[in-house]
Amino acid sequence: MDFNDTPEEAAFRQEARSWLEANGTRRTADDDAPDPLGDKVTEAGIKAAKAWQLKKAKAGWACITWPEEYGGRGATAIQSVIWNQEESKVATPPAIFGIGTGMCGPTLMTHGTDAQKERWIPELLTGEKVWCQLFSEPAAGSDLAGLRSTAVRDGDDWIINGQKIWTTGAQFCDWGILVVRSDPNAAKHAGLTFFVVDMHAPGIEIRPIVQINGGTGFNEVFFSDVRIPDDQRIGAVGNGWGVSITTLMNERASIGGGGGSGSSGDLIEFARRSQIDGRPAIEDRAVRQKLAHFYIRAKGLQFTGNRTLTALSKGQTPGPEASLGKLVGGVLIQDMAEFGIELAGMTGALDDPEFTPDGASWQASFLGIPGLRIAGGTDEVLRNIIAERVLQLPPETRLDKGIAFKDIPTGPPSK
Ligand SMILES: Cc1cc2nc3c(=O)[nH]c(=O)nc-3n(C[C@H](O)[C@H](O)[C@H](O)COP(=O)(O)OP(=O)(O)OC[C@H]3O[C@@H](n4cnc5c(N)ncnc54)[C@H](O)[C@@H]3O)c2cc1C
Repeated sequence: MDFNDTPEEAAFRQEARSWLEANGTRRTADDDAPDPLGDKVTEAGIKAAKAWQLKKAKAGWACITWPEEYGGRGATAIQSVIWNQEESKVATPPAIFGIGTGMCGPTLMTHGTDAQKERWIPELLTGEKVWCQLFSEPAAGSDLAGLRSTAVRDGDDWIINGQKIWTTGAQFCDWGILVVRSDPNAAKHAGLTFFVVDMHAPGIEIRPIVQINGGTGFNEVFFSDVRIPDDQRIGAVGNGWGVSITTLMNERASIGGGGGSGSSGDLIEFARRSQIDGRPAIEDRAVRQKLAHFYIRAKGLQFTGNRTLTALSKGQTPGPEASLGKLVGGVLIQDMAEFGIELAGMTGALDDPEFTPDGASWQASFLGIPGLRIAGGTDEVLRNIIAERVLQLPPETRLDKGIAFKDIPTGPPSK
């Protein structure tokens, strides 16, 4: 492992840093913390995010891993990590384009027709339109292929009925990628078709979901006889699963990319400022022992993340360690937030930036992280992946293989 930039990487970092310093403002402690769930997006935030995306697009920094023909710069994975590290030092508006540029764009590039690419990719790059992902349903999340919303052909259109849920940003999006069941007689994974849907089409109803932290980052989306022209179908009829896999692979790469998260520095510093029985909490032996454990876990995660970065830097595909960042990091951040709340004593029970230490950031982290441990693959699903693909343990039993979707039992067996 070599943690230093190669000369080429250092030159790239300098180029990125120079542009960011000339065009952005350095992030300070007073700037809003990044809001990965999109909970706090306002009209002003959307306007600012669009302006920042356009500025980056004009300078060739908007979607750097995209091929040059689509307005990117064909950057390598390690260059993308470097860019993200440098951009995170700048006070940026809410990150509302991640689903569009990280997942929808690459899906269109792989499966879209030339006309579809021409129609949607330029406005994805410049941030003119915002996109969302309409995959999950009330009974289809980890088991996405079990989805039940339907598409029925009607002349040149398709008629969509059903419900999606947990759709991040649906309330302010212009377009969505949608996977629905077009053939209930086919086997579970074979009867799906993939579309791009206009989020302002008649028959779409969007209801924000109020989350445990009071935010409304995601939504329920109801479809009642929504018409989608056939020229908005992505890929062949019945190949929706194949197209969705491209989206999901890009989702996992964008969530797990870079490897490793969580640092114990803020918590140690908070323990210096907090009091137990009138003395700094850090002087308490039990507190110090806890902090040492967090430090060790965070360092382990950081070094495992560095293995991912080293693999990327050498042009290799990272191994199974890449999936540890989300699994182990999520639990660690949640545990540290819980301890931060404990250290805050009586005020720890409040979730109010005015009265709670550190602007209630420990509470925000504690209430927000469970969502990140579910999105893009739950802890249990990631463990299944590690069990099957890394440890080569036997796969889970599947009772739905080779059966027409409509014949898969949905409840307990009838007597
Ligand atoms: C913050 C956030 C943003 C999201 N944004 C979007 C979005 O924009 N678009 C979208 O389509 N979806 C989105 N989702 C939905 C997300 O993809 C699903 O929540 C996720 O796939 C889990 O599905 P589920 O909620 O239906 O839970 P389920 O799959 O029903 O799981 C319930 C529980 O069972 C466990 N479980 C399930 N299957 C197994 C198994 N085989 N083995 C062991 N345990 C299992 C799970 O780990 C979990 O604990 C978002 C979710 C979150 C939290």
